[in-house]
Amino acid sequence: MRPFAPVDRRSFLRGSALATAGLFVGGAAAHASPVRRTAPLADVPEAALRRLAEGNARFASGAGTEADRSLARVRSLSAGQTPFAAILTCADSRVPPELIFDQGFGDLFTVRVAGNVAGTEELASLEYAAGVLGSAAIVVLGHTSCGAVAAAVDGGPVPGQISALYAHLAPAVAEAAGDVETAVEANVRHQAKVVAYASPVVREAVAQGRLAVVGAVYDLASGTVRFLDEG
Ligand SMILES: [Zn+2]
Repeated sequence: MRPFAPVDRRSFLRGSALATAGLFVGGAAAHASPVRRTAPLADVPEAALRRLAEGNARFASGAGTEADRSLARVRSLSAGQTPFAAILTCADSRVPPELIFDQGFGDLFTVRVAGNVAGTEELASLEYAAGVLGSAAIVVLGHTSCGAVAAAVDGGPVPGQISALYAHLAPAVAEAAGDVETAVEANVRHQAKVVAYASPVVREAVAQGRLAVVGAVYDLASGTVRFLDEG
């Protein structure tokens, strides 16, 4: 998997509603710098992503859990947390990050909102994970048969505030030509770019090699997570 790195600002600006809304924080695109490997293993982005991939492989194969969900672990975390990864994913009841990545208490900083969209509050939460808690990876995780994405593709009337999600999902909907699964993947790519580019905190951490931002899609039927290349 190749992470979303802030090296192609032009294509991001071309496709981003956030850019036209003035929410993109300007500045020169950071150039990739060598990853420093002086941190403990779980703190480097590659190790964090490998840990997630291995956890999902255990989950999807039905292997027993290796996650620490003990009360002793709960108590040991009461003084603080150092989650090795942050996950921006859908609120869907079938996509619980700790279960599908086989992780325990204190391992994942999870941000969940229908359609896994990166709005201001979601970005703020991810900035806290990456900039304060030291998470080494941010995974934007969409999933097959996403109701929020399907509703946006359909574009019909919906009750209450649900349509507030549509503005965030619009770039993916425009790309998908009516196909929900295409829109799911396009939305993951778009939101990952928003996360990677719109936050100075995230951009700086990525440029320094402390953080990777990647997209992935969870398959409801198989339980597998497919990590996406940048595109
Ligand atoms: Zn969903």
